[in-house]
Amino acid sequence: MTKKIGFLGLGHMGAPMAANLVKAGYDVLAYDPVPAAQEQARADGATVVDTAAAATAGREIVITMLPNGKLVLDVYAELLPAAAPGTLFIDCSTIDVADAKEAATRAVAAGHRALDAPVSGGVAGAAAGTLTFMVGGAAEDFAAGLPVLEVMGGKVVHCGDAGVGQAAKICNNMLLGISMVALSEALVLGEKLGLSHQSFFDVVSTASGQSWALTSYCPVPGPVPTSPANNDYQPGFATALMTKDLGLAANALRANGVDGQLGALAAEIYTRFNQENAGKDFSAIVTDVRNRSEHEVDQ
Ligand code: NAD
Repeated sequence: MTKKIGFLGLGHMGAPMAANLVKAGYDVLAYDPVPAAQEQARADGATVVDTAAAATAGREIVITMLPNGKLVLDVYAELLPAAAPGTLFIDCSTIDVADAKEAATRAVAAGHRALDAPVSGGVAGAAAGTLTFMVGGAAEDFAAGLPVLEVMGGKVVHCGDAGVGQAAKICNNMLLGISMVALSEALVLGEKLGLSHQSFFDVVSTASGQSWALTSYCPVPGPVPTSPANNDYQPGFATALMTKDLGLAANALRANGVDGQLGALAAEIYTRFNQENAGKDFSAIVTDVRNRSEHEVDQ
């Protein structure tokens, strides 16, 4: 099994993921155009190279962790011709399902192998090596990538063919976005009706309205002391990232003819909220629902 990895994209997520590979004894060739990211990677024990293509030298596995699908395809255009035949490309970025399929198709057409392997667990999970990987691609390629993914993750699920890892990611995050908005509306209605947050929590957390958003990530301070609401909505999971993921989900709804009214609406709600609150945790949407509910009611 190879211990030689190329790693591109050393941002909030990629830097700690690459650092965990180094700690586990992997030889990591790393590339990121940003000098601060290069410095961090060097300090973490990776070998930093000057071009994307150089990160493929002598590598059997090349990992990308980039902001969007266009960049993944652009970077693949440099990587695919440079890599040795049969290189396994693992893209861990969160991107459009269509872009993920296209990236895999291009990799295979160039004589390589490909997996899409987006993650959940955020920066804390990346640092702790406890990410969940949702993987799309051929079974034998999954088997080849598994030992490396297990270094960076606590759970690795093979979801299906190329693009299906991204599908799992956007389905989950669409559901999370919708449920956070739904929970926020119920909480603000409860406030108006004189229901305390704690009483709401005590009832709903064990009743049929229960959700992860409530029991693990309660968007109002108090009932779940570890939730970002208790820390002035510092992320956690930033509104900008939820907005991105809901946009990908809304694209996929449209592209596949699914009448996902709540998914599309959640994307609209977060797009508007994101304009002034991109850096806040996505659970701060409850403050938006509350602010939009402040007008007097005609009796
Ligand atoms: P980030 O913006 O912090 O990092 C992206 C890195 O890619 C940057 O360092 C940037 O310089 C680098 N980059 C840009 N162009 C490049 C190129 N041509 N070659 C190599 N590197 C290049 O983003 P992030 O928060 O680390 O997120 C990365 C991906 O992971 C995104 O797709 C995001 O949606 C997903 N994700 C993020 C989180 C999170 O909590 N941050 C959670 C789950 C998934």
